[in-house]
Amino acid sequence: MMKLSSSLVRAVAEAYSRLDAEIVRLGLLCKGCGRCCCFSEGEYVLYASSIEIAYLLECFPHVSPGTEEGMCSFRIGDQCSVYYARPLGCRTQFCDPNHRRELEDLCQSFSDQLRKKATSSGVSWSCGQFLPRNDGTVTLP
Ligand code: SF4
Ligand code: SF4
Repeated sequence: MMKLSSSLVRAVAEAYSRLDAEIVRLGLLCKGCGRCCCFSEGEYVLYASSIEIAYLLECFPHVSPGTEEGMCSFRIGDQCSVYYARPLGCRTQFCDPNHRRELEDLCQSFSDQLRKKATSSGVSWSCGQFLPRNDGTVTLP
């Protein structure tokens, strides 16, 4: 598993914090219904980059995943067990049709920022479907 330098860890944390502030500025509120954490219906598909996954596992090296059928294995009961380190895609779920375009743009913009930061630091960048496994590991294709 890729190990992030402390400056990259800081860069991801700062990007998430700025993104969260933008989402607050839009006045969006996640009601925590969990619909976007359910992958079995095919309504939601999440993507994440290698640097986001490395950050998540850096923050939660011993995460204990749940096993609810069809759900993201990081969702335990009605909560995300890796909430503050969840990837960009989880922060910009497009469940509010009135803000879909802004959220898509934000997701793309912050993803570009992280890609540039990673590549300028000599870290390889890949992006793939986000499907945490029940053993708590995440692999990208
Ligand atoms: S982002 Fe939307 S679909 Fe996902 S948990 Fe929040 S309210 Fe539900
Ligand atoms: S990481 Fe958290 S927010 Fe993202 S899909 Fe999994 S449980 Fe939901």
